[in-house]
Amino acid sequence: MLQDQQLQAAELERTFIAIKPDGVQRGLIAEIISRFEKKGFKLVAIKIMIPSKDFAQKHYHDLKERPFFNGLCDFLSSGPVVAMVWEGEGVIKYGRKLIGATDPQKSEPGTIRGDLAVGVGRNIIHGSDGSETAKDEIALWFTPRELVSYTSNAEKWIYGIN
Ligand code: GDP
Ligand code: MG
Repeated sequence: MLQDQQLQAAELERTFIAIKPDGVQRGLIAEIISRFEKKGFKLVAIKIMIPSKDFAQKHYHDLKERPFFNGLCDFLSSGPVVAMVWEGEGVIKYGRKLIGATDPQKSEPGTIRGDLAVGVGRNIIHGSDGSETAKDEIALWFTPRELVSYTSNAEKWIYGIN
């Protein structure tokens, strides 16, 4: 059925979201999760961990030429990070909208960084910037068994598919 296919396609898109050590230490875990959950996205994986510096360098490998790379990796590995995978229609692009611009000074009010952060080096949250990055980041942070596929009862109300 076309409607089932549409629902399946909607379910297939996944993105990697991480609450960085500043977000965890500032007590913003529930606030951040709530914004994704209330929007209608579905949580399919979550854990808290302290990444090693080597792991942080792998995560941010595409930024290794940037002057802030070393400090950024030191910071990401400085404390607990909440790593998550969220699923839903358009979740990669819209997740970035929920997060806001990289520099919180330029993030719109209403976005996570706009409402909750001030400095670019302490912008509390990470989100994959495209489908390839999302795939790579999910594979770096989670094993396939940690990703939980399920149907949420809310989906038919969120997508309007019966
Ligand atoms: P993001 O995808 O919006 O997180 O931004 P990027 O992928 O470009 O950068 C990764 C992270 O590096 C950002 O979230 C910031 O925490 C940090 N960052 C980016 N640009 C700067 C900068 O100019 N200075 C500093 N100190 N950190 C930066
Ligand atoms: Mg990025």
